[in-house]
Amino acid sequence: MTHVAEAVAGVDIGGTSTQVVLCTEDLRVVDHAGVPTPAAEGGQAMVGAALDALRLLLDRNDARLRGVGVGAAGLVDARAGRILAATDSFRDWAGFAVTDAVEEALGVPAFLDNDVNAFLRGEAAAGAVAGESHVLGMTLGTGVGGALWLDGALYEGPHGGAGEIGHVPGFGDLPCTCGGRGHLETLASGRAIAARYGERTGRTVTARVVAEAATRGAPEALAVYGAAGTAVARALLITAGLLDVTTCVIGGGVSLSWDLLERPIRTALADEPPVSGHPLRILPARLGGDAVAIGAAARAQAELGSVTRA
Ligand SMILES: [Zn+2]
Repeated sequence: MTHVAEAVAGVDIGGTSTQVVLCTEDLRVVDHAGVPTPAAEGGQAMVGAALDALRLLLDRNDARLRGVGVGAAGLVDARAGRILAATDSFRDWAGFAVTDAVEEALGVPAFLDNDVNAFLRGEAAAGAVAGESHVLGMTLGTGVGGALWLDGALYEGPHGGAGEIGHVPGFGDLPCTCGGRGHLETLASGRAIAARYGERTGRTVTARVVAEAATRGAPEALAVYGAAGTAVARALLITAGLLDVTTCVIGGGVSLSWDLLERPIRTALADEPPVSGHPLRILPARLGGDAVAIGAAARAQAELGSVTRA
């Protein structure tokens, strides 16, 4: 047991599991817990599971809680602290007022972010791009998420949709899970890597199995990862051309096969350098499964800090 006088908490409510971290004010993780997300039981149960885990952490660390940040999958209204839209696997989640429920239960300020935005907040605060000011964040997981860190702050746009590079057209003509066509997600998500490999080989396998085949030198698997990496590089070049970002940090399950992704990305960037003439830095995420929770805690810490100073 460690003793922490004052702490901020970060919560990552994902489709299958919920991660909770307890952090010091300089975002050092002092303790964390993971519990299954009761997605089929509704928003109250999902937040309740997170709160139970958080209370356990507060008790065993004898900590006084100053605030809570929450990162959640789906479309969120970060200002209102409410979920706007979620997939069918979440019951009674769209419309759920997350920050109201947390504040009512704990009596401290709570803040909500989309999970990809929280991921980038975490990597920018304490991870691979700590101290950087102009970053594109991408998560290559089941789907492809994106977020923008501009002039040292998250840029969300008027509808919270800024940085959604996974669903921008111009990456071929394949149908996307969102209903569009030719989006980055059709080449670079875990689901897409499995599907594109299946089209070439007739085999139904996971992206991890494709990665193992590529590591053994299987040409079809290498071609699928090559296409994914090339598309990621193009997404970065488009973003750098528009916004002059200097760096890209990539997380999510697909990024764990970094050796397979990095070469096609670097080849594509070398073939087609950014218009600024400055080379782009591309880095794997560093915070792993805690990135979203740490980023959510970073949001809470930043908001509380600004309140204290005011
Ligand atoms: Zn799409």
